[in-house]
Amino acid sequence: MDLHPTPEGWDPAAALAAVKARVHVAEAAAGRAGSGVRVLVATKTWDADAAVAVVRAGGILVGESRMQELEAKAPALAAAGARIHVIGQLQRNKASVAVRWAECVQTVDSARLAERLSRLSLEAERPLDVMIQVNVSGEESKAGVHPDEALPIAAAVQALPGLTVTGFMTIGLNSPDEAAVREGYARLREIRDQALIRSERGSMGLASAWQLSMGMSQDLEWAIAEGATMVRVGTAIMGPRLASDSHW
Ligand SMILES: *Cc1c(COP(=O)(O)O)cnc(C)c1O
Repeated sequence: MDLHPTPEGWDPAAALAAVKARVHVAEAAAGRAGSGVRVLVATKTWDADAAVAVVRAGGILVGESRMQELEAKAPALAAAGARIHVIGQLQRNKASVAVRWAECVQTVDSARLAERLSRLSLEAERPLDVMIQVNVSGEESKAGVHPDEALPIAAAVQALPGLTVTGFMTIGLNSPDEAAVREGYARLREIRDQALIRSERGSMGLASAWQLSMGMSQDLEWAIAEGATMVRVGTAIMGPRLASDSHW
């Protein structure tokens, strides 16, 4: 596991402030000024010192993708006061690492994974937030449940002890076509709205599932325009990942 060291001359506070400024402009442009869109810093591939530096600069919400990497960095991150979210595909045999260190697993895409997280969360006496990852773009390579399955799965997951479904997450279409990207984000928002409406009527216990985790460095403005409550930002804060990390 070769993690990148802190880049020379990098100013994490300035990088974070620049992204927060983008978020504020996007909120205002969407008529959502002051709506409190949260920035989760995707610290994957950066070593513990670099990740801790961004936490100390105020980026306390961090996202990690690989459980082996999380295990190596988590003690330092936790000591710095980070709140850790899992944003990569989680294998069931690595679920204990997530339960031990994360406050939220954003990538729940099956009942079996959720059942395992529920069991581990009860054993560890650590309640866990989860989001349902939805494949809104329909690309075969992307993880996540089909949009039609998102609500029934969310309801089944919410019924498991130890878990709270706090919302829905998606990885958007990787495309410069604004309309196509936003269509996917709008789809996620519609799913979330249905969850809340049906819960209000009493037919679905998903009143906590209001969050929309969508948008990254290159398209966070589009995601905020479609209602994102949390954007996940890596390169725009940490700098470019190496070409050898392109599989991320
Ligand atoms: C790496 C990652 C991000 C951040 O991507 P950037 O383009 O670097 O901002 C967001 N979401 C997920 C799931 C990621 O793995």
